[in-house]
Amino acid sequence: KYQSYAYDHMLKIRERNISPSLVTYYKKPLLLHQGYMQWLFDYEGRRYLDLFAGIVTVSVGHCHPKVTVATQKQLARLWHTTNIYMHPSIQEYAEKLTSFLPDPLKVVYLTNSGSEANDLAMFLTRIYTRNFDIICFRGGYHGGSPYTLGVTSIGPYKHGIANGFGCSTTMLPDVFRGPWGGSHCRDSPVQTIRKCSCSEGVCHAKDQYVEQFKDTLNTCVPKTIAGFIAEPIQGVNGTVQYPKGFLKEAYQLVRERGGLCISDEVQTGFGRTGSHFWGFQTHDVVPDIVTMAKGIGNGFPMGAVVTTKEIASSLAQNLHFNTFGGNPVACVVGAAVLDAIEEDGLQKNSEEVGTYMLLEFAKLRDKFEIVGDVRGKGLMIGIEMVTNKTFRIKPPMCITKRDADFAVEVFRTALERHMERAAEK
Ligand code: PMP
Repeated sequence: KYQSYAYDHMLKIRERNISPSLVTYYKKPLLLHQGYMQWLFDYEGRRYLDLFAGIVTVSVGHCHPKVTVATQKQLARLWHTTNIYMHPSIQEYAEKLTSFLPDPLKVVYLTNSGSEANDLAMFLTRIYTRNFDIICFRGGYHGGSPYTLGVTSIGPYKHGIANGFGCSTTMLPDVFRGPWGGSHCRDSPVQTIRKCSCSEGVCHAKDQYVEQFKDTLNTCVPKTIAGFIAEPIQGVNGTVQYPKGFLKEAYQLVRERGGLCISDEVQTGFGRTGSHFWGFQTHDVVPDIVTMAKGIGNGFPMGAVVTTKEIASSLAQNLHFNTFGGNPVACVVGAAVLDAIEEDGLQKNSEEVGTYMLLEFAKLRDKFEIVGDVRGKGLMIGIEMVTNKTFRIKPPMCITKRDADFAVEVFRTALERHMERAAEK
């Protein structure tokens, strides 16, 4: 057991020897010891309900028994070969993963992170189309590598040096904060409080944002483009949802200009949105390339790119190699995660507990002035504070209704205390 002095010691080492650009969400970050399913435990033995899951990474639960046992077995057998050789784990995993995807998305590249997956996806769009320009949304986060930084459009991640040539940002179709959008625009159990003039099947906000998208295509890029990258729900920027039907029209416009569509499912994939396994399915589109990471490995470092045979063949003109991508341990982890999602009914749980939690949080929005918006789908939840801060909730998908009640209560208490303090000032 660590003595209490150890905390200060750990903090000192962190300050002295670990990347100083680590932004901590806490003035005093937790010193963690152990995790089990939706719970984390610190060195003092305190238990925490984990509503952030290492930023949406722990999908089926910390140290999920099934995933842990499968990993331990593989660790004792074979860690690494590089996939120039064969090992059943990679074949089995590729077959299993693609069974969750519609045709023609059947070719898998395994990577070690989301940035790497998006790097490769961007590369594929350029190699295949022989065009260069890629469009992305303002507010998106797609990675921190020099290539993906071009499509990461969040100020604090920009460092003012050359990166990501050929990337143009377009207006984010944000129905809460943007100029258009309102009560019936988004696919969420909770709508914005702003009224809109839409009726069934007619969304003026969607049309306005599509006009903006066309404007970007007409003014910022050449006639033909390489592609477009977007998350089905924007994650890091605060669970931002687009008007229904927007993405479908955007995909069509991109394809008319020769581009490929990338769906970044790093946060929205693997059942998190509840109603569907992949976020793109909630928009009724089929992308040309899907990228994955985080929840794919429940915390194990891995990522994937899935595309069509035709697109993959363009990369096969020359060599492409990844030392660790598709190692047997990662493949076994990935397969066990897919099994756990199915066996534990986690997609359904995301839908049930997520919807319940969203509706409970919506009651707080109606009561507290500082809660501007409650949005999301399944266990991908955002609460926008009108002082401009967004609170993001993306717990392991195994949390229960009881946990949701506890979380809502904690949030309510925090809001009440905030209001009391504000009144005292
Ligand atoms: N895409 C999205 C949507 C992400 O949220 C992230 C990480 N926050 C990434 C890509 C990059 O993943 P990684 O940190 O594994 O490189």
